[in-house]
Amino acid sequence: MASAVHHNCHLLRPLPTPSRHPRLSFSPRPAGLRSFFPAPGFRLGTHAVALAEPEFVPPEEEEEDARFVVVTFYKFVPLEDPHAEVVRHLNFLQGRDIHGRIYLNEQGINAQYSGPHKDAVAYADWVKKHHRFSDMLVQTSPAVTGHAFPRLKLRYKPSLVQLEGGSLHLPLLDPNMRATPLTPSEWKERLEARTCLDVSSSETSGRRLLLLDVRNDYEWDIGHFEGAQRPNVDCFRSTSFGLSGEMEDPSDPLNGIDRERTDILMYCTGGIRCDVYSTILRKKGFRNLYTLEGGVSNYLKAEEPAGWVGNLFVFDGRLSLPPATFRQSLPSEEEEKEENGRWVGCCYACRSEVVELRHRNCANIDCNRLYLCCGWCAEELRGCCSSDCKVAPRLRPLLPGHQRYLKWHVYRDGR
Ligand SMILES: [Zn+2]
Ligand SMILES: [Zn+2]
Repeated sequence: MASAVHHNCHLLRPLPTPSRHPRLSFSPRPAGLRSFFPAPGFRLGTHAVALAEPEFVPPEEEEEDARFVVVTFYKFVPLEDPHAEVVRHLNFLQGRDIHGRIYLNEQGINAQYSGPHKDAVAYADWVKKHHRFSDMLVQTSPAVTGHAFPRLKLRYKPSLVQLEGGSLHLPLLDPNMRATPLTPSEWKERLEARTCLDVSSSETSGRRLLLLDVRNDYEWDIGHFEGAQRPNVDCFRSTSFGLSGEMEDPSDPLNGIDRERTDILMYCTGGIRCDVYSTILRKKGFRNLYTLEGGVSNYLKAEEPAGWVGNLFVFDGRLSLPPATFRQSLPSEEEEKEENGRWVGCCYACRSEVVELRHRNCANIDCNRLYLCCGWCAEELRGCCSSDCKVAPRLRPLLPGHQRYLKWHVYRDGR
């Protein structure tokens, strides 16, 4: 096993019975996700659908229109006047019920939003009418509790993904500089055909394959491809893995690999991070870069969860989606239980098993870390991620289950 394999969480293997008195030791880490703060409540999909034409609409269709969905798409294409584009998009969305993050700049668009099916699809269709976006992959998944984002943010953004130093200087518009996309079925074939993943072995004949997860640790923790590796860094945006140069980091799976002969199969949630990151790797001389087209969400829709274990973390109010979400409209309660039961996630505090694969935010407002936690530790640490946070000055009360916190100013200003 390569040393770079991320922490000691065991896949599909029961962990040793957790001690009821775990020694809680924590290394201070920077709060990774302070900006991520899910909305306190969700609006249910009660919107009446305004019908412009007096034609007959079957009731099922009307229901379909009002059903809430999350839509994601992105595309790297040159936009001459992204500011004017922002205005056009805002105009189109006037009177439509869309919440989410939609960013445009000279390199294209990146959109994640929720809304009633009718509005959500109308916007994606409208964007695709522009010939540059016509072949764009649009992904849709159900949002049962209504909006998955608190509000609409549609604006010019210098970097379409969060990356230190921005992404405008990267050759994102040149497809040859990005990783070669593999369709979900091609990806599955490659996974099934792989023989040995140990790229650190001294064997030199034949091609090697590295399955690389370029997401963050909290995403990995609730689900990933079997046999994948990820570098031991907190966040994609500040990563330097593969780029370490003289400062070689032994936890970096790209360290010391043959840049000409190793096939690197990289994946992320929807594909955009791989597209960005692969341009950085290309510049560093990595030749055989492949990416999963449309990311894991597209794969789970097309290929069921073959090779995938656990849930998929998503950057909206839903946080964690079982694979069944992508296959049909919604997983049944039993399916969800079964899929949850197959996976053993680790409690961030005591490393014991966590079956419910959903993060919580640390109750310490100044930490706000997203982490997986067992019920016992959640009680013991009063919703904090560590004993240090438990004695921090600004704490929110522990909420039962996975209820969401209110905005932090509510706690600061008194409830
Ligand atoms: Zn625990
Ligand atoms: Zn904390």
